[in-house]
Amino acid sequence: MAKSTVSIVKVKDVYESLQESLALCDGLAGLKTGDKILIKPNIVSWDFDLPFPPFGVVTTSAVIGALVRILAEHGFRDITIGEGAVTNAKPQGDAVFAALGYLKLQERYGVKLADFNQEEFLPTDYGDGFVLNIAKRALEADKIINVPVLKTHNQAKVSLGIKNLKGCLNRKSKQFCHGLGDEELSLTFPRIIEKLPVSLTIIDGLFTLERGPAPTGKAYKKDLLISSRDSFACDLVGAEILGYNAEEVAYLVNYATRHGYSLDPADYGIKGESIADQREFVDFDWEWTEEDTGPVGFKKRGITGLVIRKYDSSLCTGCSVQYNPMLMLLSSAFKGQPFPNVEVVTGKQQLGSAGFDTTVLFGKCACHYNKDNPNIKKAIRLWGCPPDMEKFAEELAKEGIECNYNEYVRFRHYLLDRYKGEEGFDLSYWSVE
Ligand code: SF4
Repeated sequence: MAKSTVSIVKVKDVYESLQESLALCDGLAGLKTGDKILIKPNIVSWDFDLPFPPFGVVTTSAVIGALVRILAEHGFRDITIGEGAVTNAKPQGDAVFAALGYLKLQERYGVKLADFNQEEFLPTDYGDGFVLNIAKRALEADKIINVPVLKTHNQAKVSLGIKNLKGCLNRKSKQFCHGLGDEELSLTFPRIIEKLPVSLTIIDGLFTLERGPAPTGKAYKKDLLISSRDSFACDLVGAEILGYNAEEVAYLVNYATRHGYSLDPADYGIKGESIADQREFVDFDWEWTEEDTGPVGFKKRGITGLVIRKYDSSLCTGCSVQYNPMLMLLSSAFKGQPFPNVEVVTGKQQLGSAGFDTTVLFGKCACHYNKDNPNIKKAIRLWGCPPDMEKFAEELAKEGIECNYNEYVRFRHYLLDRYKGEEGFDLSYWSVE
């Protein structure tokens, strides 16, 4: 069997480098000019209220703009850009598309823009009782060009092309993908692609992201494009470049087992740069204490009387997005005195332990799972899906834990400010010239 080809190209000029990247992997070979093409970027969330550094988080408009231009130059006329961001992310897709400069692509090339969250989803049966609600727009495309970011993920280790397709699901199916047992994350999301006509994957590696997938992670300039007509091969190479062997990444192992793929990079044809030259380890994980009592940073600050159990893969993106704000609010409540013996649990499988005076059940899943938990003396039940952070602060204040929202706002400013003056950290990558 012929080896799948993956191209790795160092970016100098985005348009020229993308052309080179596609030429090396014969990226447009699977497309016909009359095809209905759907481009799927990664725009997992956005924020107009507080600073939001998109570095390594959101696919650059520079790559999307160059791709649309190349497609138009090759005679493609029916191009749509579509995404279904996390639904608790505030701005609607239309406003985000405008902020990313996509309206210029609409004017210039007649590109259509689709916010999946405002459109129809179709229940799609995978044949063995596994049903996902997928954006009709994605199912009806003739070909999908998947344009994820080169980033790590605190649950899946890496988030590349196959994971990016989770944005084609409705909210319920996204949540379903964070199940338990046979419905665990690394088993569920790799299946999404089975019903989608993905013809080409381009990993936008202008930046990488440590401790992704959100802007709380740290971005690094990388200037790389990784492209392939083979989605799995492209992800395998992306993972290698982020410093992870395929055997270490559960979803790649699961996908390879199910579809008969090799996990050995030597079984793929690499063109352009070599993996070895570009490989640089980027950590995916947040440091927690060995006793699972909270982030190591909390311990270093001398915070006591508060135990936060580490999130697991059953925490879906809605709660994940609120997790860091929750930590920041708790941290803001520390004034040098111990917390009043509080435990925080999240997700679908954390049971509150005995010995705490108060247990915070963060999110509807934790509330359900701990409904009859005899260990709990007093519960603060945050039933939101995901919980509202104002409500969180309000409920904690009743227990004498005074969170300061301004600290969180300061943190958000810090997230963007730390890139100021850093070479190459240019927000114009998220606009279209
Ligand atoms: S409560 Fe949180 S983890 Fe549970 S489904 Fe809602 S957002 Fe997901």
